Amino acid sequence: MRWLIAGAAGFIGSHFCDRLLADGHVVVGVDNLVTGQVTNLEGALGSPNFEFVHHDVREALQIDGALDRVLNLASPASPSDFDRIPLFILETGSRGTQHLLDLAVHKGARFMLASTSEVYGDPEVHPQPEWYLGNVSSTGPRSCYDEAKRYGEAITMAYHRTLGAEVRIARIFNTYGERMRPDDGRVLGTFIDQALRGAPLTVFGDGTQTRSFVHVSDEVAGLLAVCEAPSSGPFNVGNADEISVLEVARMVVRLTGSSSSVELRPLPAGRLGDPGRRCPDTALLQSVSEWRPTVTIEDGLRRMIDWMRAA
Ligand code: NAD
Ligand code: UDP
Repeated sequence: MRWLIAGAAGFIGSHFCDRLLADGHVVVGVDNLVTGQVTNLEGALGSPNFEFVHHDVREALQIDGALDRVLNLASPASPSDFDRIPLFILETGSRGTQHLLDLAVHKGARFMLASTSEVYGDPEVHPQPEWYLGNVSSTGPRSCYDEAKRYGEAITMAYHRTLGAEVRIARIFNTYGERMRPDDGRVLGTFIDQALRGAPLTVFGDGTQTRSFVHVSDEVAGLLAVCEAPSSGPFNVGNADEISVLEVARMVVRLTGSSSSVELRPLPAGRLGDPGRRCPDTALLQSVSEWRPTVTIEDGLRRMIDWMRAA
């Protein structure tokens, strides 16, 4: 099949391209490099089945030839971007998603939106199943991202209902692994970077907040399962092993053999509304596919540590 991947030069997008090329597909990667890097596509660019298009999806795009799948992974995703480029995030999630939906409809391609666990906000239902409608602030520091994704889901379903577009929605939970930018503020890249430099690991708040981290290889496999699922979803894609931020900080220190201390720091202002607990209920995707996460947090962290040491 011929796939268009928007956000191809990003962390998840580049792994997705590599997986598709390894499976024998043809890939058009679109990205404006706002948070992604061409170096992530080093492997893909060596393939005759890969083409890179430098384009900002906030502008309409035209692609020659047939397309079977259009995936929208284009969006800044780090909380440190939320107060830096909030309007850009809103425009990408709204106008950008609509442009990609228009392209998919025009080509008769199936469209998939990379949504997020952030649509559940600071959840009051635990773990979070897809039917949970969320506890989201529409005005807080995270709202530019959360509401852009919620709008993205809404317009995706509106295209499905009114234009008959074939659509899928994946709600991605915290994903980590090789090619994460250590300076983008997300927790595991930050902790490993700090540990490798012998700097203190900066745990925000009291560290009892939890996340459920999924290795990028499992995430990509899950996203592929969503693309080929028999219904639109939304489908949660993540790992259900929950761990506190303090525990994961200690794990990073142990696995790196670092002499770093673990320090509690006040929650930065931009992180107001930091969800207290997050863990996916993935029963829905597992009921329609063979997909199961396979990489434990320890094994995944070892891979990421090795990659960051070598980078
Ligand atoms: P990333 O920043 O590494 O990748 C996003 C890519 O999209 C980048 O290459 C960026 O340059 C590109 N992009 C952003 N805006 C664009 C625009 N207007 N036009 C063209 N390209 C644009 O982030 P990621 O972690 O790989 O996230 C990929 C997708 O998955 C995002 O949509 C994100 O919201 C979603 N997601 C990620 C996580 C996670 O834990 N990594 C969790 C939930 C959802
Ligand atoms: N966090 C932290 N120290 C850091 C960066 C993040 O304690 O240097 C915490 C953050 O407050 C949150 C969790 O780690 O509770 C995950 O943050 P991340 O930015 O990776 O993703 P989020 O789930 O918030 O989108």
